[in-house]
Parts: sequence; C-alpha cells; structure tokens
Amino acid sequence: MALIIPTPDEVNALFRAALSSDLFGNPGIASRTEMLAILHEVRAWASANSVTAQAILSVVTNAEQDVYLVGMKGGGYTCFSSDDPAPGKGVVYFNFDARFEIKQEGKANAPLHNYIAFLHEMGHAKQWIETPEFFNGSLQNKPDFAKVIKTAAQNMAMRTGNCSFGDAGRALKLQNLRLTKPTWSVRIENDNLMRHEWPMCDESGHVRRAYTDLVML
Ligand SMILES: [Zn+2]
Repeated sequence: MALIIPTPDEVNALFRAALSSDLFGNPGIASRTEMLAILHEVRAWASANSVTAQAILSVVTNAEQDVYLVGMKGGGYTCFSSDDPAPGKGVVYFNFDARFEIKQEGKANAPLHNYIAFLHEMGHAKQWIETPEFFNGSLQNKPDFAKVIKTAAQNMAMRTGNCSFGDAGRALKLQNLRLTKPTWSVRIENDNLMRHEWPMCDESGHVRRAYTDLVML
C-alpha cells in the first residue's frame, strides 16, 4: 500500500521541521486510529457520491510512490508537499478541524465539504504521481514547456501590442526561471480543479468554486 499513515511519533521524526515552522505552528497530530477512521469515512462517502473521488483514492493508494498522510488538529496548514520527506515521496498535510467556504456572488458563502477539501489535496498527490514534472520544475527543459512559453509569448505580444514576440518570450522565460514553482502552481491548481474538484462537486451535488473564491475559516 502506497498510502502511509504514520504514528504521531513517526510524524514528529519525519516532518518535525515543517510542522514547527511558522506556517504550520506546531499543530496537534491526529492519532493513527483517528486517521484510519477518517479515511474509512472518506472512502464510504466516495463510494456513495463520486466516481472521481474513488479514482483519486485508488491512484494514490495503489501508486508505487509512498504518499504519507498527516492529520493535524487545532491548527496546521492544509497542503500537498512533493519530494517530502525525501525525494520520490510525498505528503498530504490536512487539518481536519479547518472549515472552508466558497464566496458566492450576491449570496451567503457556501460551505466546501470537508471531504472534498481533503480529496482536493489527495488530488494533488494524484497529479504528482501522474506528472511529477509539474512539481519539480523539470518541465522547463522539455519541449512541452517551450511550446507553452511560445503560446504565452504570442498572446502577450498580441495583448500588449507594444512588445515584440521575442521580448515577450524572453520576459516569460525569465519569470519562469525565477518563479518556476509559483508559475506552475497556477497550472497545477487549475488542472486539479478541472479534473478532480469540480467533477467531485458535480457528482455529489455541491457548489463549485473558482480558484480564488476559497475562504478559510
Ligand atoms: Zn490546491
């Protein structure tokens, strides 16, 4: 099984640096029993509500790569981290006390189902298993990346009107050399919304959100 649920002692040994950072703020760690119970509930929810959720769980559970699941209580930071705690391994950090809402035009916020929020992070793990290049920046040196830059440069030159195609290409390449991960993170988020989160919302009858409409409570 590629999905690993470590004990709190193992979590402290493997992820101490991240968890004690300001970003995470030393949250409480869920026990292995609590995590197995939550995973059981999420699996039952997926079986009843969403084939996309089932696919996400299946890919992450059956992958060759190890993906750790770290449950946090009363704080922490929900995210997926690639090549953590070691190259070729990944970890889903999830704060099970966190609640998320979706901004809605002219209406009260809608809640984002906590299991969908959790499966969003598992969706990132699936993306990383399928396309690790998204996460390590090595797409920069691949023909696909050159193609993306070329298209973006053409659009930018057309939009601004006052910069040549060559200048636009150079500017974008410079941006990407400095900001590989932030640049690709937008691509990663959109891919995760389109292929994972939105289908899960549709299948289970929940409101979809745009990337920027998430509110963390
Ligand atoms: Zn995300």
